[in-house]
Amino acid sequence: METVKKKDIRALTKEQLRDFFVSEGDKAFRGNQVYEWLWQKSAHSFEAMTNISKETRQMMETNFVINHIKVDQMQRSSDGTIKNAVRLHDDLVVESVLIPTKTRTTACVSSQVGCSLDCKFCATSRLKRMRNLNPDEIYDQVVVIDNESRLYFDRPLSNIVFMGMGEPLMNYNNVLKAIEKITSPEGLGMSPKRITVSTSGVPKMIRKMADEEVKFKLAVSLHSAIDDIRTSIMPFNATFTLADLRESLQYWYNKTKSRITYEYVVWEGINDQQKDVDALVDFCKFAPSKVNLIEYNPIDDGEFRQASNNAIERYVQTLERNGIVVTVRRSRGKDIDAACGQLANKQ
Ligand code: SF4
Repeated sequence: METVKKKDIRALTKEQLRDFFVSEGDKAFRGNQVYEWLWQKSAHSFEAMTNISKETRQMMETNFVINHIKVDQMQRSSDGTIKNAVRLHDDLVVESVLIPTKTRTTACVSSQVGCSLDCKFCATSRLKRMRNLNPDEIYDQVVVIDNESRLYFDRPLSNIVFMGMGEPLMNYNNVLKAIEKITSPEGLGMSPKRITVSTSGVPKMIRKMADEEVKFKLAVSLHSAIDDIRTSIMPFNATFTLADLRESLQYWYNKTKSRITYEYVVWEGINDQQKDVDALVDFCKFAPSKVNLIEYNPIDDGEFRQASNNAIERYVQTLERNGIVVTVRRSRGKDIDAACGQLANKQ
């Protein structure tokens, strides 16, 4: 006999849930109650929904499943950073990271299993893209890290960055749905201002985000403002050129008036010359910008090496002289392969 695959109940909107209960002869309000269990209370079983009658719970059990993530392995770095290997309902694994500072806890979450892009310096690019994450799988990563933050640091999660595995703008609809849930009072109620979507730069999607007047922040992994160099380390730049990227960012700024952050690693022999700094200054001039110079974490073969302190200092001084805010970010969680560009399901 053919078994019918049950639908994941969390794929339903609140309206659809309300309609479902009405079609079952129940009250629409039941849909609200179940929705609250599924999102605000993160229930992983129908059994846990204690204010719902046993019959209704059984009826839901017959019709639906609640797919949820499971932390397979949690590793803690000597600097407090936590990396979770998260198993999805179909047994694929992604990683998410909790980064604590004195005053904040930031969740770095994944948006795809593997990645559709092919940045040469990134461990994730070696895993081919298997699939996009669903909104609930993104949401669940945040819930797990919020719980860990409360448990280990005695405070709720304060910030979220979409900088884990995958290119968030290549999974735009699901990322947006997850953010809607994260920011909704019926979800986690977090302010969108505390959320940053970090993209390697997909111009069409940046324009779309601007048109939709999203309220979260935008960061771009730039790494070079010279086309030839950027294409050699981020080959998709041949299609999404810097001119096109810049035009889309200009469009974003005009619409949102929201400062753009650039993520930037300086590598020895690749982008550590004065011409590289000058090109960066020229690229960011059109709008208020901030440049995060990120420490690089070598992945196995050592083709990419962090540039000298002198080269980084040259970036800092030139950017500051040109009125561009610059920070140098030390990497966290290196000892557990949890740092930027290191997420590759190595356990
Ligand atoms: S840096 Fe980001 S966009 Fe590039 S391959 Fe890695 S995960 Fe994908």
